[in-house]
Amino acid sequence: MKTEIQRQVKFLSLKKVNNKYEKDLLEALSSVVNSGYFIRGKQTILFEKNFAKYIGSKYVIGVGNGLDALRLIIRGYILLGKLQKNDSILVPNNTFVASILAIREEGLQPILVPPSETTYNIESSKIEAYIQDNTTAIMPVHLYGMPAYNDVLEKVIKKHQLIVIEDNAQAVGALYKLKKTGSLGHAAGISFYPSKNLGALGDAGAVVTSDSDLARIVRILSNYGSEKKYYHDYQGFNSRLDEIQAAVLNVKLKGIDADNQQRSIIAQQYIYNIKNQYIKLPCIQDNCTHVWHLFVIRCSHKDQLQQYLMKNGIETQIHYPIAMSDQTVFSDLKDQHCEATSKMQNEILSLPMSPVMEDDEVKYVIQTINKFEPWI
Ligand SMILES: *Cc1c(COP(=O)(O)O)cnc(C)c1O
Repeated sequence: MKTEIQRQVKFLSLKKVNNKYEKDLLEALSSVVNSGYFIRGKQTILFEKNFAKYIGSKYVIGVGNGLDALRLIIRGYILLGKLQKNDSILVPNNTFVASILAIREEGLQPILVPPSETTYNIESSKIEAYIQDNTTAIMPVHLYGMPAYNDVLEKVIKKHQLIVIEDNAQAVGALYKLKKTGSLGHAAGISFYPSKNLGALGDAGAVVTSDSDLARIVRILSNYGSEKKYYHDYQGFNSRLDEIQAAVLNVKLKGIDADNQQRSIIAQQYIYNIKNQYIKLPCIQDNCTHVWHLFVIRCSHKDQLQQYLMKNGIETQIHYPIAMSDQTVFSDLKDQHCEATSKMQNEILSLPMSPVMEDDEVKYVIQTINKFEPWI
């Protein structure tokens, strides 16, 4: 009997992603164990310096995770008098929940703006219609690894003097007009969650800014609101970057550009070779480099496509299946529902993407997708 060899293509293998760094990672971990410093030692201080240089901003504060980074920025601006409780912040409706949680947990109101149908980033031409009297800030999310900036967005920001808090969890290394995302606005929240382009071996994050007042207050807030030990001037919280994770990030920062380059090679293969009338491919906006955190296609028969790929051993995911306006937890945001956004989120599918995907895996995904035909 002839048995067909069933190929398996994982969505992402974190084991493989980290394997190539293994020797250096083990060395770095052992040096931390031997140092006896586990919170804010040499590795953390070095990483903050290295990462600030990489992004092109003056200050980096290592924190516990990406959500905390965004919260700390908002709380910092409230304490500096630049934001007020109950102010509203423009944010895309198709983001990950953390963007919205950060805004709400600090007592501000999210205004959910629909994404563009071509870039999936906040629709800059629609923003002005959403601005209210109490709108003082915007949180552009560089979704899937592509900068959310463009000329129209820049104009709106300037005209309305908005404070810009970038959610740069997904686009570390991406460029807009030759500047790194994370250095485009007043401050940015970064996530080093393991599956992100620059991933730690656990939770980790950073606040990036060139605003010295904000940098100072975020540092204090992230460490129990204390600048001098046991003297507390602010109500802070505990969100610090672990020395172990900082050591990991120092190793992996050296490889981020090569890793992003590898993602770009795979994305180009997908873009040039996927040919199927039922599938719409992602685009790269002018003046931008895309770091392909996710490769998201669109298909009106998405459920069938996903099933078909699964049957052929190819794992896919959906980022994200439900708009923020439609989430159970945010029932008070229901009136911000947007039909076009929900329809779009019903059609998106993320293909396998990582710097360690093998060439024959990429080819197999392409071949399989090209053979897809909806059955109803
Ligand atoms: C991952 C992510 C975050 C949150 O990062 P954590 O480190 O998981 O807290 C925030 N925003 C976006 C868009 C993300 O993808």
